[in-house]
Amino acid sequence: MAAALALGRALRNVLIIDNGQPCNRQTPHSHNFLTQDGKSPNEIASLAKSQVTSYESVAWLDAMVTTVTKTANGFDVQLLSGEYYSARKLVLATGIRDIMPDIPGFTACWGISVLHCPYCHGYEVHNQKTGILANGDTGFELASLISNWTSELTVYTNGQSTLSEHQENKLQTHSINIVETEIERLEHQHGYIQQIVFSDGKKAAVTAMYARLPFVQPATILASLGIEVTIDGYIKVDVAQRTSIPGVYACGDNTTRMRTLANAVSMGTTTGLMVNKELIEEDF
Ligand SMILES: Cc1cc2nc3c(=O)[nH]c(=O)nc-3n(C[C@H](O)[C@H](O)[C@H](O)COP(=O)(O)OP(=O)(O)OC[C@H]3O[C@@H](n4cnc5c(N)ncnc54)[C@H](O)[C@@H]3O)c2cc1C
Repeated sequence: MAAALALGRALRNVLIIDNGQPCNRQTPHSHNFLTQDGKSPNEIASLAKSQVTSYESVAWLDAMVTTVTKTANGFDVQLLSGEYYSARKLVLATGIRDIMPDIPGFTACWGISVLHCPYCHGYEVHNQKTGILANGDTGFELASLISNWTSELTVYTNGQSTLSEHQENKLQTHSINIVETEIERLEHQHGYIQQIVFSDGKKAAVTAMYARLPFVQPATILASLGIEVTIDGYIKVDVAQRTSIPGVYACGDNTTRMRTLANAVSMGTTTGLMVNKELIEEDF
């Protein structure tokens, strides 16, 4: 939407195709985005949508894109319905899809009390009894980060620890426990976690948990264009948000680990400016 706003204001014809599944849809309150702190994601997105679509040349389509084909003049975008649209330039602002672990209760708590980022939600649960669901280097890195917000911290590795001896010792010096027992389920009330239930029947009370999840990109779209991704699975972009395929730009979560609204909006704005610049350079 930030890319579309810049392009609409540059008098460009823009079609936003969106199937309405943003990654933060379950979060009750969004934080750390200046002027919108504490608002719900839906409030922020609805306001953005109304502002962007108030520009005559910007249109919105609720639909799912399945594939994209390179053509002589640009790109053909195919929808699930079978319809297709053509465009000179393409902006991929498709986000990423988090893969939930197979732990009953986890998905219901995601974004409510099971959190991806302390900068977005850590303030609200600071000094609370908190779990880290992670192992190895990720578990260590996340535990040290979250220790900034709470000292009541335990790392749940959900199976044998793959933390190094040095990492385990370091966590111990900060009074961060490690629990290796497999997790059976998370007990919660409307997404607010109450306790972790383990495979041996034991329970641990927590009111917040952090996890860093694996994710997928819209593979068919990326494959149909042959877009390059980084070793971590993000779309490779340059400082102008250009992908490896000329005419295709990407912005937001699909390009970076720095997963915040402010960052996505910033990248979207840059994308809009750069797409317009490229069109001017081609036509002038
Ligand atoms: C649980 C959670 C809570 C968060 N809380 C905060 C917070 O408090 N503060 C903060 O700053 N950040 C927060 N974030 C991060 C923030 O939500 C993201 O950085 C931001 O939403 C990224 O925007 P995006 O447009 O890249 O992706 P998204 O917002 O995920 O949007 C991608 C859109 O593309 C659509 N799409 C994808 N593929 C297709 C397709 N093939 N066809 C049509 N449409 C498609 C999706 O339906 C979706 O609407 C949170 C993230 C999560 C996961």
